[in-house]
Amino acid sequence: MATIREVRINAAQGIVVQGWRSTEDGLFLRARGQPEEVRLVCVCGRSHWIVREQFTVGSASFILTCHTCGTRGSFLMEGVTLPAP
Ligand SMILES: [Zn+2]
Repeated sequence: MATIREVRINAAQGIVVQGWRSTEDGLFLRARGQPEEVRLVCVCGRSHWIVREQFTVGSASFILTCHTCGTRGSFLMEGVTLPAP
């Protein structure tokens, strides 16, 4: 079984999210320039996040809140289709 790569939320600034999935084992991101998925880990050590996608003109954001401690983070998303107006 492959080793899961982990990225801490406070070390993840600037990543661009191209895809994500939420699993029992936590939240996995596919980030631009990364060959493999990474699991996003909070400063509290947990990996379960409330996820919200936010669309504005010309860009999409990926907004996270930790289920456990409430830490928040946000990333740019790309390759995401805007919902029809
Ligand atoms: Zn947390």
